[in-house]
Amino acid sequence: MYQAPRGTSDILPEEQPFWRYIEQKAVNICQLYGYERIDSPAFEDADIFIRTIGEETDIVEKEMYTFEDRGGNKLTLRPEGTAPVCRAYIEHGLHNLPQPVKLYYITPIFRYERPQAGRYRQHYQFGCEAIGDADPALDAEVIDVAWRFFASLGLRQLSLQLNSIGCKQCRPQYLTALKDYYAKYHRDLCPDCKTRLKRNPLRLLDCKKPGCQQLANLAPKSIDHLCPQCAEHFDRLKRYLGLLEIPFEVNHRLVRGLDYYTRTVFEIQPEAEGAQNTLGGGGRYDDLIEELGGKPTPALGFAIGIERIILNLKKQGISAPPLPQPQVFIAYIGDDARVEAIKLAARLRQAGTGVIEAIGNKSLKAQLRQANTLNVRHTVIIGEDEIKTSTVILRDMTTGEQKTVPVSELSESLK
Ligand code: AMP
Repeated sequence: MYQAPRGTSDILPEEQPFWRYIEQKAVNICQLYGYERIDSPAFEDADIFIRTIGEETDIVEKEMYTFEDRGGNKLTLRPEGTAPVCRAYIEHGLHNLPQPVKLYYITPIFRYERPQAGRYRQHYQFGCEAIGDADPALDAEVIDVAWRFFASLGLRQLSLQLNSIGCKQCRPQYLTALKDYYAKYHRDLCPDCKTRLKRNPLRLLDCKKPGCQQLANLAPKSIDHLCPQCAEHFDRLKRYLGLLEIPFEVNHRLVRGLDYYTRTVFEIQPEAEGAQNTLGGGGRYDDLIEELGGKPTPALGFAIGIERIILNLKKQGISAPPLPQPQVFIAYIGDDARVEAIKLAARLRQAGTGVIEAIGNKSLKAQLRQANTLNVRHTVIIGEDEIKTSTVILRDMTTGEQKTVPVSELSESLK
């Protein structure tokens, strides 16, 4: 028997209310803040991701779905949403528009990860990008969008973790301080961290091994090594978050898994579980557009995992509103009645009433049972007598009450 590939899943009709609920809240919040939708292709030139995410990251080293097409092009299924949006910004000259350009997407993401609860090989992300301004007010707005989005879903007990990891100017000194610190404890590091120390020392700060965590807690902090401009940027961001009444915690171990971040980084987590189950995160990427061949353009954004939202909605006992479904079922007895049923269903649908028709040669009892499981409000029954008198029987499925109604008045009675 064939199965969906490991780490992927089908979204069956019973799960769809959650997906539509989340999508609708995302669209609403984006309209409220003036973010417009962008959809990019499912795959891109592999180089776009390798250059921006960074060769030393887990995503590029181990997780990308990269393949060569029949024309010899090296392509990668989208492993994150930001670089494609930046590629589109440059390609379509969006820097000519008033800045910042504010965009959002809801899209599948592909990463070859080890599947577990909340971690899949295909998952969906809702993301926002605000491109073209370095003002910390824009950082505050982007964080506000993410924060209010979760609130609009009804999710509670979330924590916002915040950090600043500096810029091209101040980062090198900080990395030197980090390396000097860790050099003293080299023997105590896990094997992964020993490698990371040479290639990507920031990542030592978010190692999940208890020994490394203890060392990370006492490691030098990026916020103590910021240049005056980055320090001022971070101070103003914190002030604006205060104005917006968004509670945050400065977490000096927050660095994120992609190399392109500069200055602001943030994550939103369920209070109970912490970083293992991060709902979403993001930050500034002031050098990314230049890296892709555009003009220097400051920007930031976030991405939120939709499957993780659903896990948390369920955990918090929040259900999604049901999706609209036909409220009328048409049952019939005999072939002549079937002809009438087909005609009647067509007429009702044309008038905008959703209808489910009985299909096949089932007994009336079986048809009513089907109507029951479909949870419709009304069942219309057509038999020989009804054909002769141009009427139908209208059954209220909640009370079981039945009455005979002229076909011409059915629409009115259903209202
Ligand atoms: P990232 O691009 O890694 O910062 O991911 C952004 C968000 O997407 C995370 O906070 C998660 O909610 C979600 N996410 C990331 N990777 C996965 C995955 N493999 N499976 C499910 N959700 C994921």
